Formats: sequence, structure tokens, C-alpha cells
Amino acid sequence: MGDGKRLGTTSGRRRIAGHELGHALGFCHKDPRRYATLMARRLADGPADGKPTRQDRRNYRALWG
Ligand SMILES: [Zn+2]
Repeated sequence: MGDGKRLGTTSGRRRIAGHELGHALGFCHKDPRRYATLMARRLADGPADGKPTRQDRRNYRALWG
């Protein structure tokens, strides 16, 4: 993948990875005005730490048990 140069910050890459993993698990974009979520369409609207929020974890359990 490219020249091996890292793009962005560690926290930014973590947020992207978490968000994209969310898509792979079947989650669509969520409205960050309704609740804090890693699945906000814009990365900047997601949690700064890049971790799934309480509601993200609820959504996961509702879909995957
Ligand atoms: Zn997305």
C-alpha cells in the first residue's frame, strides 16, 4: 500500500478503522445530532477517541446479539 508513509494521526487512523469496521459489520451512517456515534458520516463528528460509543455498542448488540 503506497510508499509506507503514514497518513494522518494515530487517533485519526483509529477512527477511520473503527468506522469502516462498523460498515463491514453492517452499520450505515448514523446522525450524530441524535446521539454520539462512531458511525457519523463526517469523521470530525465522531468521538475524538475513536472508540464505539454507548449507543454504538447498543446497536451492535441489537444486530449481533
Ligand atoms: Zn462511512
